[in-house]
Amino acid sequence: MTIPPTTPPVPNRPDRAARLRLAVERDGPRCVWCRRECLRLVRGTTDHLVPKVKGGPSWLENEVLACPRCNRERGHASPADWFAECVRRGWAPDGAAVLHALQALDRAILARGGQRRARPYLAAQLRRLARELPAA
Ligand SMILES: [Zn+2]
Repeated sequence: MTIPPTTPPVPNRPDRAARLRLAVERDGPRCVWCRRECLRLVRGTTDHLVPKVKGGPSWLENEVLACPRCNRERGHASPADWFAECVRRGWAPDGAAVLHALQALDRAILARGGQRRARPYLAAQLRRLARELPAA
């Protein structure tokens, strides 16, 4: 009898559409930045808090619901910089949702390992947002 070769377990990672749905369940149906509803006329997108170019993973913990305009205009700006820009524009961004997602990302990286490029960036963003957000 031959023993089948062991393969590493396939992580149960939801795909992009599933992550978008889960982000809506977690944060509500509005863009976390400008608070526009993203259900019908405006399609929601998943916005990477730690940008991909900074090593941010495509995990639910690194993604929030954003309207296409905010996702596009934010570009590679950091979450703290874009949050400040939203406030400057007179919007009321959901700072608690952003901070909670970043804290969940921090825990997920600790649990799963890796993501070495994203770690210092994430730590700096967490320090800054925790300082700037009122009792989030
Ligand atoms: Zn928006």
